[in-house]
Amino acid sequence: MSKYKRILLKLSGEALANAENTVDPDTLNKVVSIIQSALDLKVEVGIVVGGGNIFRGAALAQAGMNRVTGDHMGMLATVINALAISDACKRSNIDVLVMSGFPIGGGVCDPVDHNKAKQALSAGKVVIFSAGTGSPCFTTDTGAVLRGIEIDADVVFKATKVDGVYTDDPMKNPKAVRYDTLSFDEAIERNLQIMDTAAFALCREHNLDICVFSMLDNTNALSDILNGASLGTIVS
Ligand code: UDP
Repeated sequence: MSKYKRILLKLSGEALANAENTVDPDTLNKVVSIIQSALDLKVEVGIVVGGGNIFRGAALAQAGMNRVTGDHMGMLATVINALAISDACKRSNIDVLVMSGFPIGGGVCDPVDHNKAKQALSAGKVVIFSAGTGSPCFTTDTGAVLRGIEIDADVVFKATKVDGVYTDDPMKNPKAVRYDTLSFDEAIERNLQIMDTAAFALCREHNLDICVFSMLDNTNALSDILNGASLGTIVS
């Protein structure tokens, strides 16, 4: 039995890409099997996906584009990723609902509605939230925390390349040690970059725990953590 009933899983756009593909089909299949492993434990799954594999507003602005336009492009990129994950889920017979932080017509996806999202989650559907917060100058980390609060998630799972939060950069310092748990205050005191400041502040204010873990190297990591294994780092 999982210690969490409802989770919000934040996937970065880059996690879906590889050297050849912006959205890699094999990676999508991995993501689907990870989602299924949570559903098998009767855990309700909301997802926020990033768009960094396609566009990031800050990078576009550095190249001379208007920042707000760049952010709109970045948010639209997250919709593309959400549709890719949704399609892969449907092919595996997982019921999905895609919602967007700004209205998109043509039957592409529904606008975000926290009541409808919670109903869908209770009915066992996976809800994928796209377009971040729906506003420029934010990140999908902030979007993830916002949606986590809206759906009353028990925790935000942030999938990263590293399997938790370390005392130092584990790629550079072999003596770096992973924290099992951390408080929000400790993370701030030690200047540990877990999420951007806005996202982190929201989590702290709303008492929403963050679990930092690595998903794609170990496809069992999410279900293992849900089953109580001490993998990743929980910030609470
Ligand atoms: N974005 C935005 N508002 C939001 C969320 C995202 O403007 O609420 C834009 C922003 O340009 C961002 C891009 O969408 O760089 C893609 O999101 P993010 O960088 O968070 O994706 P990730 O790094 O998770 O793939």
